[in-house]
Amino acid sequence: MLKKLAKKLFGEGPSESREGFFLHVRCSNCGEVFNLFINKSTDLAQNFVEGGGVTYFLNKEIIGGRCKNLIQVRMKFDGARNVMSREIENGEFIDEKEPGREG
Ligand SMILES: [Zn+2]
Repeated sequence: MLKKLAKKLFGEGPSESREGFFLHVRCSNCGEVFNLFINKSTDLAQNFVEGGGVTYFLNKEIIGGRCKNLIQVRMKFDGARNVMSREIENGEFIDEKEPGREG
């Protein structure tokens, strides 16, 4: 269902996707995979730094359909909205670039 939706939203015109990225996350409890589109313009929160300047952060909570495991994603971005760090609880990030290595 998510794939269909993503294709519908971003398949034809890439204009929507240039301002964001997909976050691929796997539930550590049941293995359910989530593909979330993060809009850098609307999903990131501003964090004003002492002495001027601004960084961004994202706090995302994901609850799957298979289990009640609450996955918490926290990401930090610099002033240009580039990812500086990320951490996750109760789940794991899936990086598409990594070769698939199963068990
Ligand atoms: Zn789960």
